[in-house]
Parts: sequence; structure tokens; C-alpha cells
Amino acid sequence: MTPKFKRVTLKLSGEALQGSQGYGIDPEVLANIAGEVKALIELGVETALVIGGGNIFRGLKASAKGMDRSSADYMGMLATVMNAIAMQDALERIGVYTRVLSAIEMKEVAEPYIRRRATRHLEKGRVVIFAAGTGNPYFTTDTAAALRAMEVGSEVLLKATRVDGVYDKDPLLHDDAVRYERLSYLDVLAKGLHVMDSTAISLCKDNDLPIIVFDMLGPGSVRQVVCGEPLGTLVAPPNFERPR
Ligand code: UDP
Repeated sequence: MTPKFKRVTLKLSGEALQGSQGYGIDPEVLANIAGEVKALIELGVETALVIGGGNIFRGLKASAKGMDRSSADYMGMLATVMNAIAMQDALERIGVYTRVLSAIEMKEVAEPYIRRRATRHLEKGRVVIFAAGTGNPYFTTDTAAALRAMEVGSEVLLKATRVDGVYDKDPLLHDDAVRYERLSYLDVLAKGLHVMDSTAISLCKDNDLPIIVFDMLGPGSVRQVVCGEPLGTLVAPPNFERPR
């Protein structure tokens, strides 16, 4: 299998780490994901990860119950740091070099986010895990993923989900749901499709960053996507051809 991208950013939601337990981190799921990421490194693909925090804390949910939104969002960002450290541990246990770079400075546990340092780590074949989102409240880790992908020059943003792409309606509730093979950014925004939040989609749109939405649970799926298998749904500018 030959990789079709040299540098990618992979966005994992916090919920991807919780498995079926509904909260926190499932070590087995974490180990599986680490194995998938290792396969990319073995192919020579420079890989950056952005991990959400929804398995531990979501700012919007807490603020709906009365908490100050910014305080709640900072807690959400701290949750992503815990996930990042867990992922770093899982990767290092299987011999993959990693660095956690945090948008909120906490130098005892992670390097500060410095773009040039991040690209240097990637060039050296280390997995870079971006923690603490963008470092700003009122944003999401989807937006952080789009931002960091552009900053470090990833060719594609891989958005891992629990369904095999984007559907016109929820495939878990509707048998006749149809999967899109390709969408424009405007389609996603106008149809209100659940790909990423609108800030993240707009950022990708304005900067022509292609997104591939795919099912992370399929064994080997990340490697397949990176090697040009037409899995999932592509969201891209009209002139972008998915490499095969
Ligand atoms: N968050 C934030 N700014 C950011 C990224 C994240 O305030 O740049 C907070 C926000 O409260 C969010 C939480 O961190 O709810 C967890 O991130 P997210 O909801 O994106 O995680 P995911 O849905 O991917 O698990």
C-alpha cells in the first residue's frame, strides 16, 4: 500500500476513546487507535492528532446548566489534555515517538504549542498530539484540528467518526439514509450536515483544506483512507481530486 498523502491531521472526538462505556477512556479502544496511528507512521506518513474532550467534559453542556461559558470551555480544553496524555502513553507503549503540544501552557506535562516545533517533530517522524484545542473558549476541537492542519501544512484533515461517512439523515435511525461520496463546503453548511461545526467548515472552505469523514472503527480504515481507498465522504473544493 502506498500512501497518497505525506502529512495528515487526524481528528478524533473524545467520544471515540470512551468505547461502549459511555464516559472516560477505554484502554482497549485507545490501544486499537494507537495501532492504527502506528500503521501510518510505518508507511512514512507524517501524522498529527487532535483529540477532543467530549468523553470527559463539554463546555456547552455545562454552560447550559448555568456555569459560566468560558470557565466551562477551559475545563473542556483541560479534558483534551488528559486524552492527549492517554494517547501519548498508548502510542509510546507500542514504540511510537510522540510529543504533546498544548495550546494552554503547562510545561510539566506538555510542550507549549509552537508551530515551528510541531513541524520539526513531524519531519522527524514523531506523532504530534495537539492538546487544549485552540486555547480559546467558544471554539471546538474540530476548529482546532482545521487550524492546526493548516498551520503545519497537512494535505488533508481526516475526521474520524463512528459512521462510514456523511448521510442525508441519521443512518442509525433511517434504513433509507444515503451516504454522500462527495460534498462541497457550502452543501455541508446549507444542509446543516453533521460533519464538523460551522466555524471549522468555514475555515476549511476559505483555505481549501479537504476533509475526509470516515469510520475509525473499521480495522485498518485510517491506513486505507490515506492510501487512496475511496472510503467515507470527501468534503473539498470542486477542483480537488481524491488521489487513488
Ligand atoms: N474547547 C474550547 N476551545 C477549543 C477547543 C475545545 O473551549 O478550542 C472546549 C469546549 O468546551 C468543548 C470541549 O473543549 O466542548 C471539548 O472539545 P470538543 O467538544 O470539541 O470535543 P469532541 O466533541 O471532539 O470530543
